Amino acid sequence: MVTRTAQSVLKDTFGYDTFRGFQAEVIEHVSQGGDALVLMPTGGGKSLTYQIPAMLRKGVGVVVSPLIALMQDQVMALTEAGVRAAFLNSSLSSAQAAAVERQMRGGELDLVYIAPERLTGERCQRLLGDVAQGVGLALFAIDEAHCVSQWGHDFRPEYGQLAILRDRFDTVPRLALTATADVPTREEIAERLLMNPRVFVASFDRPNIRYRIIEKREPREQLLRFIREEHAADAGIVYCLARSTVDEVAALLCDSGVPALPYHAGMDAASRSANQSAFLQEDGRVMVATIAFGMGIDKPDVRFVAHLDMPKSIEGYFQETGRAGRDDQPADAWMTYGLADVVQQRRLIEMSEADALYKRLSGTKLDAMLGLAEAADCRRVRLLSYFGEASAPCGNCDNCRAPPQRVDATEAARKLLSCIYRCQRDSGFGFAATHIIDVLRGKQTEKVAKFGHERLSTFGIGTELSEAEWRLLLRHLVAQHIVEVDHATFNVLRLTDASRAVLRGERTIELRHQITQPRRRSAKQRARTSATDDPLFEQLRVWRAQVAREHGVPAFVVFHDGTLRAIAQVQPKSLGELRTISGIGEKKLASYGEGLLALLATGP
Ligand code: ADP
Ligand code: ZN
Repeated sequence: MVTRTAQSVLKDTFGYDTFRGFQAEVIEHVSQGGDALVLMPTGGGKSLTYQIPAMLRKGVGVVVSPLIALMQDQVMALTEAGVRAAFLNSSLSSAQAAAVERQMRGGELDLVYIAPERLTGERCQRLLGDVAQGVGLALFAIDEAHCVSQWGHDFRPEYGQLAILRDRFDTVPRLALTATADVPTREEIAERLLMNPRVFVASFDRPNIRYRIIEKREPREQLLRFIREEHAADAGIVYCLARSTVDEVAALLCDSGVPALPYHAGMDAASRSANQSAFLQEDGRVMVATIAFGMGIDKPDVRFVAHLDMPKSIEGYFQETGRAGRDDQPADAWMTYGLADVVQQRRLIEMSEADALYKRLSGTKLDAMLGLAEAADCRRVRLLSYFGEASAPCGNCDNCRAPPQRVDATEAARKLLSCIYRCQRDSGFGFAATHIIDVLRGKQTEKVAKFGHERLSTFGIGTELSEAEWRLLLRHLVAQHIVEVDHATFNVLRLTDASRAVLRGERTIELRHQITQPRRRSAKQRARTSATDDPLFEQLRVWRAQVAREHGVPAFVVFHDGTLRAIAQVQPKSLGELRTISGIGEKKLASYGEGLLALLATGP
């Protein structure tokens, strides 16, 4: 029975006790020769669904992967687990490549990762033909399969040519895998790459990720506090929109004792790749990056993803935050969000060279993201419903944990709108947020005096709210298109058609009441994600770092955090006890078992 064997490979090689979700069904289906389309969020566990059938079936399994870094990581992790794996890509010399080809023909490999452009080339097609005739092809797995879709944002022409696999090797089962779920992309993948596939769609929920979106005040200070209080010594990613911000924030964090590294497309390739491998190999590094960083980053122990600027769509937010907690341990998705984010993203869309349809689509996606950021109810429910999935309030996001009070802000909104209107009418041109709020709060500034705005009926009618509260309200109105920010003329505020509905009392405004003090989490809550609390765990991490250096592999390839935590908790006394811990297969038991027991015997 196929599944029993799959079960033993799961335990003996990968050290896991149970399959996740529909992993077992995919493995069974593919092992019996069927095609499969596998949709799972990042971190869901797609890799095992082709790795195990490739090991169970006769011959070599071929994995198509567009990212060289990812291939190398996967092959390293597989080799470490005792699987016979290799890759063929442009990073190999021709002698090295010839050696891999020889091993393939000789049936000495279970899995070979190949770059798509190479795979469709003549040499590789000949190689595959020989292997098919000889030791056999176990399967084709096409990772990041959405790259075949012309409508997606990651379209790669070489993916289109992968149809050749179906045409030439029609008896070899194929899997297409992706974390991009929308229905048109799904159909395109099935049509171009597969034959009568079974489609497996996983939930996109990532229950171990805690979502939190906070008001942007002094973002860099807020970030520093967040890292210090909740993630000291943890690995994390900080996303910023601009390259200059990346450099500044990385420097700031370093000055403050957080081991941060910058990453953006403006850096030279050598420093970029040095920073990337430091992030992967060493414990507790914080990568400050533009979204150029992340595709194919397979590091499982990223404990937090922080956004200093808002992504332009929920897809982007989901993909970026999804890089946290791939090991299923608690992780944080943290974002600061303010008016500038709304304005900046709208400006980017307006200024882009794209056509009108694309701009409209981008606007819709941005509005959905704003809706998530402004939401007063469960973030996870919002997020999942965007991907077509119904769910109940999660109890594990900021809004569930401390439900924001909702307040009726219609009256305040009308004051704000009339103030914008009166300033503009009085002076004949518009004003930006700072001046409007000064007028509302009755502040005697130079500008107020210059324009004589203390004479306006709206002068000083808004002393009940602080400047920050006015900004919050304004941001909310801008997000809902009730006020527009005209960036062509110094971010002047303008009324829209929707403003009139509010002024006429036809539309009410509800706000989430912001707690002025940042909430502190209890020590117990913090303990769930911070690395520094358990001395034995700390000691195991030090041991792991040392072993990783000796073996020249990233720390997580030795053991995941979850495995170390379990070891720290169980404190096994024998190899037999160690074997029961999730993440310890036979090869790792043999490599590290004795060393671990010796360490545990001495204790922290
Ligand atoms: P994806 O490719 O879908 O992003 P991966 O295949 O890289 O996800 O898996 C994410 C993490 O989950 C990996 O570290 C992997 O070892 C782990 N994992 C996968 N399946 C299981 C399982 N059945 N039990 C425990 N851990 C698993
Ligand atoms: Zn929630």
